[in-house]
Amino acid sequence: MTVEPNHIYQYSLINALMAGIADTGIKVSDFTTKGNLGIGTFTKIQGELVLLEDQVYQLQASGDVRVAEPEEQLPYAVATNFVPQRTVQAVFKNKDDLDRVLDEFDNHAANLFMSYRIDGTFSYLKARTVRGQEYENQPLAELGSKQAVQEYENVEATVVGFRTPSAWQGFMVAGEHMHFISKDKKAGGHILEMISKGEVNVGVAVVHNVHIELPTSEKFNAAKMQTDSAGIGGIEG
Ligand SMILES: [Zn+2]
Repeated sequence: MTVEPNHIYQYSLINALMAGIADTGIKVSDFTTKGNLGIGTFTKIQGELVLLEDQVYQLQASGDVRVAEPEEQLPYAVATNFVPQRTVQAVFKNKDDLDRVLDEFDNHAANLFMSYRIDGTFSYLKARTVRGQEYENQPLAELGSKQAVQEYENVEATVVGFRTPSAWQGFMVAGEHMHFISKDKKAGGHILEMISKGEVNVGVAVVHNVHIELPTSEKFNAAKMQTDSAGIGGIEG
């Protein structure tokens, strides 16, 4: 990895996805040079993305997981060259326990970013995967009612996530945004709820360098972008 540890690289903006700008993006082969841990989505907002080590996985609404091809494009994706500053053991009774764990790690990072990787067994995971746009430029918020929601029990998995300061809502997803992939690489999605089975390992890093690359496409420049906090919360919360 040639990129600096614990910087964030992001392609495009959540607001662009909200405006349905999802036809083109960064190539998978370029994205994997930006880090070893990441999340995002695919063209036409088809499913969820996990970057783990040097592999990009597509978590599909059908429940299947596939490895993305180098030439595929990603309309919105976030990566970091993750080097945990500390790894702790933690128990999660629910998703919100993560904020407690992150605050214990550093309670002065309210206006900084955090990246984290959780490894272990979860007694319960609830996750969604978007089904994809049904027409050109369909806004992300419209896909919320048609997402596939699945529940998993006793699954060994890796959770990849970022915590974003509230003022960045619209550029990214404010608060927690995490995706998981099972250890056998057969299941995954955008996490809605999680309960750990006993202690799991949580690696955390504070991030104070963020690089955002914007699309140069006609569509991106023609889009009417605004921050719809309720809409983002509805689909990404
Ligand atoms: Zn997501």
